[in-house]
This record gives sequence, C-alpha cells and structure tokens, in this order.
Amino acid sequence: MSDDQTHSGTCFCGAVEVTVTGSPAAMGYCHCTSCREWSAGPVNAFSLWDPKAVKITKGADKVASYQRSDTSIRKWCTVCGGHILTEHPTWGVTDVYAAVLPDMPFTPGLHVNYQETVLHITDGLPKLKDMPKEMGGSGEMVAE
Ligand SMILES: [Zn+2]
Ligand SMILES: [Zn+2]
Repeated sequence: MSDDQTHSGTCFCGAVEVTVTGSPAAMGYCHCTSCREWSAGPVNAFSLWDPKAVKITKGADKVASYQRSDTSIRKWCTVCGGHILTEHPTWGVTDVYAAVLPDMPFTPGLHVNYQETVLHITDGLPKLKDMPKEMGGSGEMVAE
C-alpha cells in the first residue's frame, strides 16, 4: 500500500465525511462491553490510525463527542446519530470504525478484550484476553 492512499467514508446520513491517509497501525475486532453498549452491536470492527492521518473532511460542525474515560473520546453525527470514530489519546491512535470506510480493505489481525465476548468468532486469529501490553493490558491470549 502506498502511503498516499486515502479512504473516505461517511456517517449514516452522509452529512459527516471522514478521510484517512496511509495504512492503519492495526485492524481487528474489539469485544469489550463499552464498545457493545455504545455501538448496540455485539462486536466492534476497528482500524487504528495515527491521529494525524484522520481528517473530518465534511460536516465537522455536526460532530459531537462523548468522553466517559481518559482512554476514549467517542464521536458521532448529530444529524443521524451514526458513529464515526473514537479517539484514544492516551494510546496515540484514533479508531475509525471499519464499517465507516467501505472501500478500505479490512484485514483484521487480532481480537481484543475477548474475555468479554458475547459472540465467539472461530477465525483462527489471535484472541487477547484484554489489551496488548503496550496499551496497558496483560497481553495474555485466550482460547477461541
Ligand atoms: Zn449523519
Ligand atoms: Zn472495545
């Protein structure tokens, strides 16, 4: 992949557009309760980016934020309620939901927070009990 490659996507109504440039630092699935409760879905497919690679290219005035903890600032469209991204300032990455970037090839590398799963996925990928060590987790693996 070229570093100049860009992918764009929008919220549910199209009022907000986000564009990412380059390659994600990581892609995978998060099974944590926070992702589940906020997304109203069983699993969150994530792509993690250098915050500098992520730009709101349309409708920035329609983006709202909610921050419950130091680790996550969740952003969505105030017109449709569609989710766009979560900033993780303490980890130095921004999660642009894979489903928001339809033309980005999604090649997941791992599952995180699998101890909280409600939807087991037997795809042979590594399953981390919580988070990688470098992100403050145990780095421990669990069975599918
Ligand atoms: Zn919208
Ligand atoms: Zn999560």
